[in-house]
Amino acid sequence: MTDSITIRRPFDSHVHLRQGAMLRAVTPITAQKFFSAIVMPNTDPPIDTTEAAAAYKEEIMAAVPEGSTFEPLMTFYLTKNLSPAEIAKGFSGEASAKVYAVKSYPYGATTNSQWGYRSILEAKDVLREMERVGMPLMLHGEVHLNDHDEEEDPYEGERLFVEDTLPRLLDAFPRLKISLEHMSTAIAADFIEKNGAEGKLVATITPTHLLYDRRQAFSGGYRTLIHMKPLVKRREDRERVRALAQRGLPFVSAGSDSAPHPESKKFSSCVTFGVFCSPAALEMYTGVFDELGALDKLENFLSINGPRFYGIQPSEERITLIKKDWQVTEPVITSEGVKVWPIGHVQHGLGNEVIRWQVKR
Ligand SMILES: [Zn+2]
Repeated sequence: MTDSITIRRPFDSHVHLRQGAMLRAVTPITAQKFFSAIVMPNTDPPIDTTEAAAAYKEEIMAAVPEGSTFEPLMTFYLTKNLSPAEIAKGFSGEASAKVYAVKSYPYGATTNSQWGYRSILEAKDVLREMERVGMPLMLHGEVHLNDHDEEEDPYEGERLFVEDTLPRLLDAFPRLKISLEHMSTAIAADFIEKNGAEGKLVATITPTHLLYDRRQAFSGGYRTLIHMKPLVKRREDRERVRALAQRGLPFVSAGSDSAPHPESKKFSSCVTFGVFCSPAALEMYTGVFDELGALDKLENFLSINGPRFYGIQPSEERITLIKKDWQVTEPVITSEGVKVWPIGHVQHGLGNEVIRWQVKR
């Protein structure tokens, strides 16, 4: 039985660090465990100029604890304001912050997603420029509204995207680098296993979609801490996504999608989308790979595949995890006194959840 594993310091391919007091509260948590991360641009207002990206990076760096070498990697939000000229400028790194990728959100699907295009295929000029310079596109791969502006079934959004939008996108932009984020369904896992290619078409998986399915989401009431887009799906979907992770393919990596919200929005009659997982994400991933008998695949998934896709060197530092039970007992509290509840919390998660691995201190 393996009860300790040492890997290169991990990389988070997808994290939300927010703004203001929330940013100052959550950034140190990611910076403590991950050497770098792709930071999502769905702030208010969204990041869609190199100047805004540089200013946002500065705000994040001010919250990184002294002595940490953590580097946030910036992204653009694919708004209608984002121009092809800005793509070249951001990706070249000539401005004070290099912009590593563009994130596309389906209109109206999740937190601050009201600035996006109705369909990704409408953004032709920007996508063509990204294809030309080699800048990756990160997809929130769900169809939210149909052609008549009616809401699609939220359990079907990813299937609709993978069956219809994604193949059209791949046809129209054959050399565009694409990452399908937070994969949640068997159909997406099948698609990626068949069509994924290193440096070209990759996918990320959250701890939430590896650990939970909709039976847990509805067990004994609705479990709002695991409420996110894409929604957690059927058990069969979760099993299929786990099986994909287990294969250790070079085009599948960890993207926690840690997305903190204040308690007032998470415990609300209109609960907001987003799972705050950074306090336990690394440990949860390790637990899943252990359960799958795939700890030998963990380092590639956490520390190698993500950096490689974004063209950066994996970390030379190492981190050791040991098999030792613990529980998430506390919320994170911002300087304004706002509580932020992490996934797996002993009371507010599913109830008495135990995390089997921890970082050795
Ligand atoms: Zn996200």
